[in-house]
Amino acid sequence: MTKLVASIVTVGEELLVGQVLDTNAAYLAAELTRLGIPVVRSWTVGDDKEAIRGALAESMRHGRLTVLTGGLGPTPDDVSREAAAALIESNLSVDTAVLAAIERRFALLGRDVPAGSERVASVPDGFDVLPNSRGTAPGLWYEADNGSIVVLLPGVPHEMRAIFSEHVVPRIRALSGRTVIAQRTLQTAGIGETTVQRQIDAISHLLDPDVVVAYLPRLHGVRIRLTVTGEEASDRLDAAERHVRAKLGTAVYGCDDDTLEGILGDLLKRRGLTVAVAESCTGGLVLHRLTNISGASSYVMGGIVAYSNVIKQHQLGVDGDTLKQFGAVSEPVAMQMADGVRARLGSDVGLSVTGIAGPSGGTEEKPVGTVWLGYADDHDTRAVKHQFGRDRRRNKDKSAIAAMNFMRQILLQS
Ligand code: ATP
Repeated sequence: MTKLVASIVTVGEELLVGQVLDTNAAYLAAELTRLGIPVVRSWTVGDDKEAIRGALAESMRHGRLTVLTGGLGPTPDDVSREAAAALIESNLSVDTAVLAAIERRFALLGRDVPAGSERVASVPDGFDVLPNSRGTAPGLWYEADNGSIVVLLPGVPHEMRAIFSEHVVPRIRALSGRTVIAQRTLQTAGIGETTVQRQIDAISHLLDPDVVVAYLPRLHGVRIRLTVTGEEASDRLDAAERHVRAKLGTAVYGCDDDTLEGILGDLLKRRGLTVAVAESCTGGLVLHRLTNISGASSYVMGGIVAYSNVIKQHQLGVDGDTLKQFGAVSEPVAMQMADGVRARLGSDVGLSVTGIAGPSGGTEEKPVGTVWLGYADDHDTRAVKHQFGRDRRRNKDKSAIAAMNFMRQILLQS
């Protein structure tokens, strides 16, 4: 079999006018790449039967796997299945099993079957039905004689993802047989792109010459994508990952879908530790992030958002003279906040954030973006300073990330 490559077609006027962000294309591109299928083209077209048919025909002509999302709903402007039927010159007919599944779904909800359901249950002859466990419109799968494949999926993102992972991925795996591309993205925090690049350059002689390294910086840190193609790709990828991790040490916190808060949660659970957070400039963002993890109640005690100095004094026990002498954004105040929240909430670890998010409020000595992070446990209280930029939202996000990473690094050292 020749190597499969993919095209993505997303359908909807709302995408063309910028009303809805095309997250389906991003999701599909990432998933297909992960499956070892390079995406060579991505189109967005309006709710126009001829435009959709044209995009599908172009992709089919090249023998590609085409994944389309959108335009499978009940209204007359949803024309993707008509376009697909026209593409292979087949007829549309109501699939009684699909219609029965829609009727059962609405009966369970105690609602009438909506108008247009027959349209949703129509399938072009020659297409297989991929059941939709999250909604009504099923996915559709077609394999042409030239090896090209057309997959139609609903536009609603969570429905599309469910059908893709439950039905499309197993079919693709069965087709491609073995992994020809292996890919992993290592997640780092607290280290800049140039430093990462320099460190990896320094070990380039240890890496398999076929390993392709890509650097993807974002707010949370730099992602390092490693790609290996060919025989034993998976083993060679594992070896490359080991070398990169050995060089970068604890700057790498995880890989692929790992999050800093998830990794930190695992660490706290493994150590049997609890945490409480005192936040000023982040306004609760650290706690928000920590509690995005299911099961966080076993290690997050809670926190105090001490935005004003009065609350810092009264709720966290920060000393008034220290505040006057050093200011709220200072090393001693960050340390007293961490000690205070730990003592008041009875946690093993206290974490604190105090900074100038901006854009106003900076001084020459403490410009906008100055942030102190505090950490306290049974043996130790310490603080570290960061200097971020001028954008308020980014400073809040960066402070929350830096605070979680600060705690992670200290726990790993202890
Ligand atoms: P429905 O049965 O709901 O009509 P559909 O298959 O016809 O589904 P659309 O009507 O095209 O899909 O889209 C439904 C909703 O899904 C849109 O309002 C939009 O919010 C979201 N959506 C559609 N396409 C995308 C996309 N490419 N990326 C992100 N969201 C999308």
